[in-house]
Amino acid sequence: MARSKLESSAPLDSSRLESTSPIQSLDSKDSSKLESIIFGPVLSRRFGLSLGVDLSPHRKQCNFDCVYCELHKAKPMDSMELVLPAEAVIQAITQALQLHSNIDVLSFTATGEPTLYPHLYEVITAITPLLPQGTKSLILSNGSRLLEQSRALHAFDMVKFSLDAALPSAFKRVDRPSTSLDLAQILQGIREFAASYKGELIAEVLLVQGHNDMQENLYAIAEFLRQIPISRVDLGSIDRPSAYPVRALSQERLQELSGIFAGLPLSLPQRSAPKQSTFTSPLQHPNDNSLSSRSPSELQKLIATRPIACDEVGRLFSQQELVHLQELVSQGLITIKQQGESRFYVAQAAK
Ligand code: SF4
Repeated sequence: MARSKLESSAPLDSSRLESTSPIQSLDSKDSSKLESIIFGPVLSRRFGLSLGVDLSPHRKQCNFDCVYCELHKAKPMDSMELVLPAEAVIQAITQALQLHSNIDVLSFTATGEPTLYPHLYEVITAITPLLPQGTKSLILSNGSRLLEQSRALHAFDMVKFSLDAALPSAFKRVDRPSTSLDLAQILQGIREFAASYKGELIAEVLLVQGHNDMQENLYAIAEFLRQIPISRVDLGSIDRPSAYPVRALSQERLQELSGIFAGLPLSLPQRSAPKQSTFTSPLQHPNDNSLSSRSPSELQKLIATRPIACDEVGRLFSQQELVHLQELVSQGLITIKQQGESRFYVAQAAK
């Protein structure tokens, strides 16, 4: 589940990639295209200062092809075709934790779906003892493989999963899953995992106009969620440019529909920054020269992966980075796109 990806470091070389069947490998020419495993830290409205781990940094690998995906469209796959060796991921995280000891969460995600990563258990069990005191581990998943990856997921402090549909027609329309996936089995997997999971389990329901916002689908989702121990349900809609031309629900409509989730610990995310921030990240203070600046190409790569709202850059970028950003805009390498009520910086991936 790729949602948030803001910064890159620790470049890899192609020798650190292994292949699974069908075999595909990267040659030395491709190595320059490899993105790194670690990104951030970024300030998350929900989780605080978050250092990200991308378990598929080189290519979108997902068993869904959601209409609202922030990445490009791609045929769903049931398993990763290119797999990072566990040692490479562990090494990258270990180095990053030495640089960023003040983070609130270590967030596992992917350019795609992180639970497709076959070495997830090995990585999380190696990393957990290295987490600074007070830092929690989090994984952001599309929810399709909670049972299959249950051993690894039990080692995470927090599991956030998506549940956009509880009716097959809505599931196919909004998540465009692999044909091998069955919604009833996915729901049963979530149910069984939730019954034994001791950490914080968070569900995200993302609504798209005409795809999964039918009341019968929402009633079915709410009924399902009431049957499992859940810490929080985030109800929201699209707030970033998406793979397909789809429309968001207004905040007012979300408020109306939130009544369907009565009795659940519901949260309606807001675009604005948290009112009571306890974070001291320099990311919030662009004038702080202690924040090392990313190069123009790093910024272009970052924005190509995740569009950034125009009203967020002042908080997320240093002054030098803002200068780079303006240069990239004037060169046409980054453009501004309207999505709903917000404007975003968007970019094509650098060649
Ligand atoms: S297709 Fe869906 S599940 Fe897969 S990365 Fe995109 S948003 Fe996440």
